Amino acid sequence: MVRFAGCCRFVYNEALAEQKTRYERGEGTLSYLALSKRLTAWRQGVERPWLKEAPIHPLQQALMDLERAYSNFFAGRAALPRFKRRGRGESFRYPDRKQIKLDQANSRIFLPKLGWLRYRNSREVLGEVRQVTVSHRVGKWLVSIQTEREVVRPMPKATCVIGIDLGVVRFATLSNGDFLAPLGSFKRHEGALRKAQQALNRKVRFSRNWHKTRRTVEKIHTQIGNCRRDFLHQATTSISQNHAIVCVEDLQVRNMSRSAAGTASAPGRNVRAKSRLNRAILDQGWFEFRRQLQYKLTWNGGRLIAVPPQGTSRTCPACGHESAENRPTQAAFRCTLCGFEDHADRVGAINILSRGLQVLRDEGTDMADASAGCAGASWRRCTARIACEVSGAQDRQQQESAEVI
Ligand SMILES: [Zn+2]
Repeated sequence: MVRFAGCCRFVYNEALAEQKTRYERGEGTLSYLALSKRLTAWRQGVERPWLKEAPIHPLQQALMDLERAYSNFFAGRAALPRFKRRGRGESFRYPDRKQIKLDQANSRIFLPKLGWLRYRNSREVLGEVRQVTVSHRVGKWLVSIQTEREVVRPMPKATCVIGIDLGVVRFATLSNGDFLAPLGSFKRHEGALRKAQQALNRKVRFSRNWHKTRRTVEKIHTQIGNCRRDFLHQATTSISQNHAIVCVEDLQVRNMSRSAAGTASAPGRNVRAKSRLNRAILDQGWFEFRRQLQYKLTWNGGRLIAVPPQGTSRTCPACGHESAENRPTQAAFRCTLCGFEDHADRVGAINILSRGLQVLRDEGTDMADASAGCAGASWRRCTARIACEVSGAQDRQQQESAEVI
């Protein structure tokens, strides 16, 4: 498996190097088809006999990944593709379901050129197998099985509409007044991580003790990731089960976390404070929070609405007066016109909710009951009945993290 993952990385890097030199020469990038012809030549050549030992499909998938990375780059969604490093995110993917056999009763899976492998089951695999990804994470190999199945369009069990404001001090504030404490997983592990990293710096590189300490560092990184994932999953599961429609602000996380350093001609201000905020934002995992909310709401028959965030924290929900003076401190909100007072994050959540309801009204979604309950007192818990339209009854579900023994 290490070798297969290595071959995929090699193919990706080799193709990327080719694309880069073409780009420097001013030529266009090669298509997937042209690259896969190169792949055939590499496999048949005498220079790299080991490439022939790896299964062909995962190698082709590596080229497809590269093509997608480039199209994301050209569409402005991502940075220029970079070379993959050894030992980081090692994985390979089998796209052909005809070559995969899954024997759940005996906890084993058949993969091309690997044969039957036993695995530790994390959950039942439902539906038809589409593709399988094998990945390496801190000493463990994981197999992830993507399946496809028909699901009945669900009706939302809950009937509430809610607005959520995301923040640094409070991770998420709901328009009904509930809030989630900050994630802070990184902070909790920061000390241990720093200590381990310092210890690593003192060791002789690539010595036995260096490898041992490096594993400790990796372990702490994994713990941080696990804590974050667990927290986010718990939060998004409970929110999506208890609400039919969730309104969030349409945050551009990448813009917000952009470095404040600026350029040499126009140096940025508050660089240190901003970089600390950046770390707090990225540590919080807002983007992942939104992604999970989106798909879990779809599973439950609900819907996520993203609204423009401009001025949500400065507008009075009672009288609509918008002013920066409405917010004397970070946490407090007091309307200078009508005297309405509440926690600033909750005010943000209420405003996000009313903007979401406006979106629904503009669409003409049958929200008469809901808006009647919310227009006058949008910050009160709303218990109106809503009919939800969720497009796409077919549900692609990723079965995650069954462990290969
Ligand atoms: Zn007011």
